[in-house]
Amino acid sequence: MFHVKHTDFDVLVVGGGHAGCEAALAAARLGVRVALVTFRKTDLGVMSCNPAIGGLGKGHLVREIDAMDGVMGRAADFAGIQFRLLNRKKGPAVQGPRAQADRERYKAFMQAQFAAQSGVSIIEGEVVDLLVGDGNRAQGVRLGDDSEIRAAEVVLTTGTFLGGTIHIGGERKSGGRMGANASVRLADRLRAHAPGVGRLKTGTPPRLRKSSIAWDGLAMQPGDDAPGFFSFDTSHVACAQISCGVTHTNAETHDIIRRNLERSAMYGGMIEGIGPRYCPSIEDKIVRFEDKTSHQIFLEPEGLESDLVYPNGISTSLPHDVQIAYVQSISGLEMAEIVQPGYAIEYDYIDPRGLSRSLELPSIPGLSLAGQINGTTGYEEAAAQGLVVGLNAALRALGREPLVFDRATSYIGVMVDDLVTRGVSEPYRMFTSRAEYRLTLRADNADQRLTPTGLAVGCISAARGAAFADKMARLDRCTADVSAVMFSSGQLSEHGLQVRSDGKRRNGIETLAIAGVEVSDIIALEPSLAAHDPEILEQVARDALYSTYIERQERDVAVLNRDEAISIPTDFDFASVGSLSGEIRAKLNASRPETLAQAGRIEGMTPAALVSLLAAVRRAE
Ligand code: FAD
Repeated sequence: MFHVKHTDFDVLVVGGGHAGCEAALAAARLGVRVALVTFRKTDLGVMSCNPAIGGLGKGHLVREIDAMDGVMGRAADFAGIQFRLLNRKKGPAVQGPRAQADRERYKAFMQAQFAAQSGVSIIEGEVVDLLVGDGNRAQGVRLGDDSEIRAAEVVLTTGTFLGGTIHIGGERKSGGRMGANASVRLADRLRAHAPGVGRLKTGTPPRLRKSSIAWDGLAMQPGDDAPGFFSFDTSHVACAQISCGVTHTNAETHDIIRRNLERSAMYGGMIEGIGPRYCPSIEDKIVRFEDKTSHQIFLEPEGLESDLVYPNGISTSLPHDVQIAYVQSISGLEMAEIVQPGYAIEYDYIDPRGLSRSLELPSIPGLSLAGQINGTTGYEEAAAQGLVVGLNAALRALGREPLVFDRATSYIGVMVDDLVTRGVSEPYRMFTSRAEYRLTLRADNADQRLTPTGLAVGCISAARGAAFADKMARLDRCTADVSAVMFSSGQLSEHGLQVRSDGKRRNGIETLAIAGVEVSDIIALEPSLAAHDPEILEQVARDALYSTYIERQERDVAVLNRDEAISIPTDFDFASVGSLSGEIRAKLNASRPETLAQAGRIEGMTPAALVSLLAAVRRAE
């Protein structure tokens, strides 16, 4: 007999990782009653792999989460022990903020957010089954102790835990990550309930004892002098800053790995799941980049007080003895002690093409999925999906319209659309190259793009809303003042700027749009502009630099929006479109696009097929 222990939640989130935390807190910000079920309360905010947040593309996601008043950016700023802006020499559109984090501070911040957020109950337990009612609708979950929790909306964010198997050389054991049980019973149930369950894999390097590393002989890499933060709320570093060590693999390291390749879980055929190509293990690097005689390794301390170091660049599934041998062949690591061996993990994921744009599974209404379970990899990708499902589950519970993030206004929209339209053939991670509108989707303007939406939905705190309104007013005043000043081409040339001597007068915005012109140049020409906040002036300059591209982009976005407005009914029969090839029809059936624009992004879709589809959709209306 089952007994009911907890009842009556609007949104029930399973998992306390990056997706789960963001989902539960986002739903709670909309004022609904939320439960978060996870194995242990101390799971909240755990970083399973590297102690770092952000990077190229990923940093953009964090800024967008923050623009919706999410928590990841503030947690990373609080825990940041080294901040670096990647691609600093390139344009702002492709720069990526990254911070190394103190694991314990990150977790502490996340747990404090839950303590401060009203309306969220944290429940410890293992979810082993989904409760499904009439119309296959999700109604709650069953825990390992047979108790049930009922809720209007269920969100699964179980990460690498579903059917998780840990591999170290020939050794394999069940586990969700090192030191944690796998979620086996829920995985079995989902294989029966959900469409398209597959296997993926990822890996992590051995952790080294800090005091066993010979730091003196190593090059050290400090962070940026002027740290760039993730949150629009953060103004200063919250703790001491550190440098990372830099070392390299060498011919001996490569020899040891090559000689033992067949003992690696991945190369010995022990793993069937597909791993991330762009985040290769050290075995992968040796095999794929045969000509390279050395690979760089960053030795990243796991925290200010921690005696652990994360050697970034040498993830592995080789046996423990081989890990010791190759690690100790590396300069500075001759005496290094491995505290926890590196390992690979294989886990179930669910084909995201079965999901709607709010990441709900239409075949089980009321059930949404976010994070690694959808075939992505990375904390930031998981957190961004958590935000999407948390807000949408709460909106559905409140009987409100869904919130769709689109490709034209956010990386979050790019990721969701990629997932539900194209699915994944390897763990999906964000890159700036995935966004066609990346000149406008910049990390610096995430608040300008998204906070108004957050305010309309109601997930932004009053303090954040007031700060945003103040910033926008200052930006408007500054833009007006910069637009009002006029410079002749002669004046600009005399100041040393490279401009055509066309006799044309340019206003301040047009001047800032010229490549190479800096804020300091226009202040030198018009000192009264120095009265504006330097950060606001920089933002006006960044907006100006990209303004010339924006008009062209806006035309593309208008076409996209037109096609996004043409909905395809959820029960549309793609078999009724006679002229489609069998392959296209199968892909349409797998991803069930909700709009004509989404259908157009399916791999292999041709303009002719799209025209036939449009005609059939019109006929069906
Ligand atoms: P997780 O952070 O895994 O959280 C899942 C949560 O669900 C946990 O709190 C767990 O306790 C809970 N849970 C699971 N099942 C149940 C259940 N049945 N009942 C109750 N609670 C449950 N990312 C990278 O970007 N690069 C890498 O190189 C990389 N390497 C990795 C290597 C390893 C070994 C691992 C384990 C992960 C790695 N990651 C890497 C991935 C990164 O950790 C994840 O992308 C990220 O943590 C996913 O977040 P999530 O919220 O989806 O899941």
